[in-house]
Amino acid sequence: MIFKHFLVPDYLLTFQCAMCAECCKLRWNIYFDPASVKKYHGFAAADEDFAALLKSGIAEKKDGGAFVQFRQGEQSTGAEAGCEKNVCPFLNIEGLCAIQKQYGVEALSDTCKIFPREITLTERGCEMALSYACPAAAATLKKREPIQFYQNPAGFNFFPINMQYGKIGNLMERQKVGKTNYFEVEELLIDIMQLRGLDIDIRLILTGMIVDKLKDGDLDGVRRYLRNIDESLISQFQKLSANPIFMLRFIKDVMDGIAGEERPGDMQKLLKLAHQQLKLLNEKVISDKMAKQVAEGYRQYYEPSLNEINHIYENYFVNFIFAKLFYTHKYLDAYFLMVFFYTLIRFFTVCTCMAEERQADEDMVVAVIHTIARGIGHNKSFYEDILKQIKQTNYHRLPYMISLINHP
Ligand code: SF4
Repeated sequence: MIFKHFLVPDYLLTFQCAMCAECCKLRWNIYFDPASVKKYHGFAAADEDFAALLKSGIAEKKDGGAFVQFRQGEQSTGAEAGCEKNVCPFLNIEGLCAIQKQYGVEALSDTCKIFPREITLTERGCEMALSYACPAAAATLKKREPIQFYQNPAGFNFFPINMQYGKIGNLMERQKVGKTNYFEVEELLIDIMQLRGLDIDIRLILTGMIVDKLKDGDLDGVRRYLRNIDESLISQFQKLSANPIFMLRFIKDVMDGIAGEERPGDMQKLLKLAHQQLKLLNEKVISDKMAKQVAEGYRQYYEPSLNEINHIYENYFVNFIFAKLFYTHKYLDAYFLMVFFYTLIRFFTVCTCMAEERQADEDMVVAVIHTIARGIGHNKSFYEDILKQIKQTNYHRLPYMISLINHP
């Protein structure tokens, strides 16, 4: 597929891979699409070394695609020599991809060509968001001016890819899935997220009220509702009481529910910090003392920095919406995920502040977002597990979600 039209946010135009090779050193499933595997067999027929690397480096699937087999040992031979454990076998000793080095970037599989971008083909063109599982992508969150979007920006292009992109069809197809007005909804949600006159928590609560009203697909009703929103309604939102015990129990329940999977080291570190060092999630029952500790940490270290970090959340949410989570999920489910990630990011940022006895700053929040994206967010199948947990534990009601957003 060669893309001719693009719709891209400004942070994607300036994004540059830092060549840190972090994406080649994890236990993520790296899938090579069938067309790429076929191409690699062609390369292997003319190159014995590459043939040996390919044979040991991939496990082929019935559909013609293949999963990369991560190396288990420290030291190996050939292109793998001297590399770390659990790395992609095609990553060579110089920290470069052997496929890209030998055959060029166009030879990369869709997975490797696209990451950390997330591509959806729509009637507006090829739309791209970013995954914050890449540290260079996460760094773009620091941008202070509101995100803007560009249609066919001059000089922007992308390599042809084979199959790994999402698709949002025409009006008839959108009607079939009950999302006739999807693009208007997406624009509306992004506009709300960029209402800088409002606190980020209020923007998130407002999004919840709108999404709740969207259940019946009544976009005109939502517009009328928005026109009638005034300061008194906003202050009512602010007065909704926060409940730190509920917030801690929510985090504990959801995290316990998806426990058991191997996580990258920095995610393990955050979990250890909350469980063992600060002892906030280690007991079966969340006590008043734990809740008080978090509330105190929030007031002492986090609240004073809000003006310094609000734009990071704004950018995070705009990317979340533009990544089409509100299309691939029911509107309310996408909103629950948004609130879940916000609650988690804020909680682990407060934990980091408490452990390091310092105020939150941009770098700290970006690091937590990157860690969570790498540990949980990158694997979309976790999203279904998280939603299952949220629903099983009866948290999936708007008032509960709003009480999570309001700070302790
Ligand atoms: S993790 Fe991001 S910056 Fe690092 S190599 Fe991969 S794409 Fe590039």
